[in-house]
Parts: sequence; structure tokens; C-alpha cells
Amino acid sequence: MGRVTFQGSGSIDTGSVSGGGGGGGGGRIALGGGAGLILTIVALLFGVNPGEILGTEGPQQGTSSDAAQIQQQLDSCTYEMANENTICRIKATTVSVDTVWSDLWPDYQPPQTVIFADAVRTGCGAASSATGPFYCPADSTAYFDPSFFTQLRRMGGSDGPLAQEYVVAHEYGHHVQNLTGALAKGQRMGSQGPRSGSVRVELQADCLAGVWAHHADDGPDALLAPISDEQIATVIQTAKAIGDDTIQGPGSNPEGWTHGSAAQRTRWFTVGYQSGDPDRCDTFATDDL
Ligand SMILES: [Zn+2]
Repeated sequence: MGRVTFQGSGSIDTGSVSGGGGGGGGGRIALGGGAGLILTIVALLFGVNPGEILGTEGPQQGTSSDAAQIQQQLDSCTYEMANENTICRIKATTVSVDTVWSDLWPDYQPPQTVIFADAVRTGCGAASSATGPFYCPADSTAYFDPSFFTQLRRMGGSDGPLAQEYVVAHEYGHHVQNLTGALAKGQRMGSQGPRSGSVRVELQADCLAGVWAHHADDGPDALLAPISDEQIATVIQTAKAIGDDTIQGPGSNPEGWTHGSAAQRTRWFTVGYQSGDPDRCDTFATDDL
């Protein structure tokens, strides 16, 4: 039972998740938009230098047959399958996160999600799996290559279902930030250093993921079964594995941080999880991160 998080049965009713890469297309691409348009993606793991990862040439695209195969799997997903299959788990999680944010915030507009293999074109440019999961504000779309979760386990993260769902909720946290303006504010405040805009944005996204987890099992009709302390421990394990100091290793210099330390990521997820209150996630209001 430890691995089961979704309760309920039947097909997962959302049109917001699609298979991408190759000819599979992505979410709607909002081009233009003038000076306010932000083209920088926000990734789960690394500070992203668009010159390095989002080259104009772009990486090799996933093939359109990959996209078609992913789409076929997505079309067949049920809540039962979401407890076994990573692609279906991502899809089911997007429904849960959208439900929680729509309840908390009537103005919430759901993002799109694209699941891809190897590489994908986005409203922010081309990206490869090496980027890890990310959110592109220009097309309001979260992107996931399911193979990332294997890499995450190698990095010391958990492959438990709630830990994977946390990754989805973190990227959706960036979407919430896109809607509130926190993402744009953070991107104006610098991309590196212990009190940089980037670190504040990332820690806030962890906190917003915690807010989701707090509400995800609310009420008898919740999509998630009651969350156990054991499952929360798997999230903490993953949050620690993707802390800047964990990734950079001994001698890690905070001036190079982009996402916050293991302790900070754990702390802000926990603030959101324990309070369930997005107002508690104001990582811009304090230097005590
Ligand atoms: Zn992030």
C-alpha cells in the first residue's frame, strides 16, 4: 500500500496534458508579447543559461513516433494506472494540482503540460532531457521527460510516488508564480547567490508544492489517499537530493546557488505543507531563507 497515492478509478479527465517532441507539438505557444515577455525557463535542478541549453540550433528532437507513443499512453491512463506508471502519475498529478489551486484561488488558470522523450521545442526555445523538468512561462507549459525520475534516483532522490508528484507540483508552482508575477520579479532579481531572485523563486515553488500536498488529500473525494509521514519523508529525501549544496558537493559556494540548499528546500516545502497557506510562501519578504 505504501506506493499507492491515487484513490478512485477510471479515466483521467483532462485535456491539458499531451505527448511532445518531434511533430507532437506542445502547448499553445504565445509569441510576441513585447518587452514583458520572459523567455527564461525555470528548471527543477539547475540554473539554466539559455545560451547553453536553449541554443538556437537546439538539441536533437525526440521523434514524432515518441510523441505519438506517449500520447497513446496518456490517452489510456486511469487513476489505477497512476499508481504504477510514471506517465499516468504525471497526468493524474496535474489534475490534483489544478483542483487544489482552483479551490484556493478562483482566478487560477491551469497551465498546459507536455510529456516528452529526449528533446522538445517550447515557447522558450528547444530543450533536452538534460535540463530536467521545467516550466516555460512564454507558453505557460510544464515539461517532463519521465526518464528524469531514473536520474533523480541516482542522485539520491526517492522514486516514491509522492516524491514524483512533488516534482510536478513544484513546476506547477512556477506556473502559479507566473500568474502572480513572482516569477517575473524573481527573474529581475538575479540568477545566482544565496539571496538571489532565482533562489527565492525556487524556494517559493517548493513551498507552493507543499501547499498542494497539504490540500491534496482533503475530503473524501480527494484524488489522493491520505498522505502518510512516510510519504512526506520521500519528498524530503528528494528535496535534499536536489539542494544546490548536495549537487555541488563539499565546498559548495553559496554565491553559485540557484535553487537553495538541501536544508532550505526542505524547510520551505515543510512551511507550505504544514500551513497549507500560500501567503506563508513569501520568500521575497525575508532574507532568512
Ligand atoms: Zn524550479
